[in-house]
Amino acid sequence: MRGFSEELEGLREADLLRGVRTFPEGVVDFSSNDYLGLSRHEELKAAAVEAVEKYGTGSRASRLVCGTLVPHLALEERLAEWKGAEACLTFSSGYAAAVGTLSGLLSKGDVVVMDKWCHASLIDGARLSGATLRTYRHNDVDRLRDLLTKVRGMVSRDARVLVVTEAVFSMDGDVAPLEEIAETCEEYGALLMVDEAHATGTRGARGAGRVEELGLGSRIPLVMGTLSKALGGAGGYLCASRSVVDVLVNRARSFIYSTAPPPAMAAAAMAAVEVCDSEEGASIRKRLWGNVRQFSPKADSPISPVIVGENAAALKKAKELLSAGYLVAAIRYPTVPRGTARLRVVVTAAHTAAEIDSLKKALG
Ligand SMILES: *Cc1c(COP(=O)(O)O)cnc(C)c1O
Repeated sequence: MRGFSEELEGLREADLLRGVRTFPEGVVDFSSNDYLGLSRHEELKAAAVEAVEKYGTGSRASRLVCGTLVPHLALEERLAEWKGAEACLTFSSGYAAAVGTLSGLLSKGDVVVMDKWCHASLIDGARLSGATLRTYRHNDVDRLRDLLTKVRGMVSRDARVLVVTEAVFSMDGDVAPLEEIAETCEEYGALLMVDEAHATGTRGARGAGRVEELGLGSRIPLVMGTLSKALGGAGGYLCASRSVVDVLVNRARSFIYSTAPPPAMAAAAMAAVEVCDSEEGASIRKRLWGNVRQFSPKADSPISPVIVGENAAALKKAKELLSAGYLVAAIRYPTVPRGTARLRVVVTAAHTAAEIDSLKKALG
């Protein structure tokens, strides 16, 4: 039988060993996804505390038993309105939303056509569903069309064909050509699911995301995201038609067989949406984008990858930066392709101009 310590040794030798650590004191954080700094916002904290006082800490059961509380439904209604969708379903994490949606809507005989750089949660959901998974070259709409042409000839009439992309890619920070992808899906009669994990809160006049920014709400049937990045809390969501949401209530196992998220998390997320969709939100976003542009004038998002290549080199660079007072994540395989280990620099609205300037100097 394979031993566990040998397995760990193998990871260590390949510079792929990971471990958990607490946030080091006294350093500037350039690694979190708290793009707007909302995780410490007074209104979010107050909303969470108030919900704890009113409902307690846990939600006591699955959403389908007795776990659905007023804050859960209020949040879903508010998210649907904000994202321009008919309905919304929340999950205990973005990971659970991705896995539950894909495995709940698809089964054997169906096909998922996914951008090659999509997040692990989307890949896992596609695998769990039993559908055939095909990937296309990152952001390459011609390849997507080729694949859809092939798929057309191989599926039955009632098979579901679902195209999946992220709006803003998590490890490269670039954006997908969403208009072209939506158009292609319409042409081929395929469904489209967009993961707005890194777009929600950071883009659009109301901060709802890339789909709002491009005015594509009515053309993208499935929009998912997380409450744990720019929204500063925890949880995931899917915005879609009422019938899709009702199917998921019946089929998404990560929704059905898991205790409802704590009511305080729903209340905090609600407060986060209110902040995002306000003048205050717009001014925080303005500060965010000013900071992003200061770090990298050409960046499409707060995420800027500095590609290093080898795992050991990326780890060494991150360690040097840490001793200089900056927390920057080294990202390695399998999160990114082999040979593309990188530093993932995240600039947020909470950074000062001086902090960004000195990180740039430290990076050389
Ligand atoms: C973070 C992330 C998720 C998962 O969201 P969690 O709330 O952290 O579970 C899903 N998709 C993408 C693209 C992400 O970056």
